[in-house]
Amino acid sequence: FTGVVALDGPSGTGKSTVARRLATRLGARYLDTGAMYRAATVAALRAGVALDDGVAVTKVVEDAEIRISTDPEQASVRLDGDPVDAEIRSAETTAAVSAVSAVPAVRALLVDAQRELIGDGGIVVEGRDIGSVVWPTAAPKVYLTASPEARARRRAGELGADVQSVAGDIARRDGLDSTRAASPLAQAADAVELDTTELDVDQVVDRLHELTVA
Ligand code: C5P
Repeated sequence: FTGVVALDGPSGTGKSTVARRLATRLGARYLDTGAMYRAATVAALRAGVALDDGVAVTKVVEDAEIRISTDPEQASVRLDGDPVDAEIRSAETTAAVSAVSAVPAVRALLVDAQRELIGDGGIVVEGRDIGSVVWPTAAPKVYLTASPEARARRRAGELGADVQSVAGDIARRDGLDSTRAASPLAQAADAVELDTTELDVDQVVDRLHELTVA
């Protein structure tokens, strides 16, 4: 497989799980762009800059060395040489990531890095703006959705948290991600929408695989 698969959509749609499985099935690489925005957020939090200071946040991200593995079987993100796989998933990072990813210059830096990693293809890329901004020629471009209830249930299961608080967090993050000025979360006009509410992981991966080899 030498193409580029773009998997976009909000959190709790099962994106990461199915993206990784699809990559393994295709013998392709896998890129979690959300993990890059999360690592940038850890850098900003560690530096202690005000998250609404776009200039300061950009400087921190510019100076940070974010290294991400593209092996679907072996997720790993390093910030300045330090593994941050747990820290990027913390509640503190999750609460701050929308502010950091709303800074246009931060997006420009990370989009450049993502394009470099995609390189010659053979990769499944998941995020919010892959089909619309990062790699508009990706095929297929899929936009995953699921009902708010299903998304909250899945995220709560993953995090071991209660459904109510997760539902609040998802709604807040969706709101921020959809209304920011730079690359707001939105479905690319030519993306195939796949509603995963009633589907299990295998069914979603099968459908994605069909779309990819079609
Ligand atoms: O996918 P994940 O939930 O880990 O993404 C974390 C956050 O990173 C999102 O809420 C969004 O603010 C940002 N993000 C983005 N563009 C991407 C991937 C993630 O803005 N391509």
